[in-house]
Amino acid sequence: MPRLYLNSIPTDEKTIFITGEESRYIRNVLRMGAGDEFTVFDSTGAHFKAEIKRVGKTSVVAELMEALPPAEEPAHKLVLLQGILKGRKMDYVIQKATELGVAEIVPVATSRSQVRETRKHDRWQKIALEASRQSWRTTVPEVAEPATFKDYLEGASQLRGCIFWEEGGASLKKMKFEASEEPFVIAIGPEGGFTAQEVEIARAKGLEVGSLGNRILRAETAAVSAVTIVQFLLGEMG
Ligand code: SAH
Repeated sequence: MPRLYLNSIPTDEKTIFITGEESRYIRNVLRMGAGDEFTVFDSTGAHFKAEIKRVGKTSVVAELMEALPPAEEPAHKLVLLQGILKGRKMDYVIQKATELGVAEIVPVATSRSQVRETRKHDRWQKIALEASRQSWRTTVPEVAEPATFKDYLEGASQLRGCIFWEEGGASLKKMKFEASEEPFVIAIGPEGGFTAQEVEIARAKGLEVGSLGNRILRAETAAVSAVTIVQFLLGEMG
């Protein structure tokens, strides 16, 4: 059954009006019409089965039928600190990290970042929304406003997680992955990697230094691999 995300579902009324992009999605992509059923969810965890009553040119009228249990999100919160990448590579990382279940993505400028200024925040948040819809997530990961890596670490209290460094990290097999209320942070550098000093600051904040093997991966490959491995070790990959 198709699943649709709305910013907020007005749960005090049975009839809902869907406009804008979501209504175009129902009409042009899902090609649904009166009588078709779908499920709808919002950022608060509200989750309903609904039936389409009418599909107009610019809006869709639907009726909420039954409340469904909030769809499950990972028990822990994964935060991806990603050195800002050039061009479409950042889009790719945001899309894949969302599919893999991260709770938050923080684009960071590091000493070796080639991209420091960006006005892409809205676009990145939209990519996270679309990827959540496609992978049936009920909460959309937050894409934070870009910060510098240093400011982010200096502003944070002690952290739990891992900074990935191709010049001397430890195997993830040797690390402990326990369920915890504390978010788990994964830090991946930009194309040029982290400096030794950045790794040191991260280590001082409590992050372990992790390796992804002897091969140097492109930053976007490293991000997808690291999130996948950590999710697996935290028991989230089925
Ligand atoms: N400094 C490098 C490549 C950086 S790769 C160079 O240009 O030679 C970009 C990021 O991917 C790194 O900052 C790191 O976070 C991650 N990464 C890539 N390969 C890795 C590996 N084998 N182990 C750990 N991290 C890796």
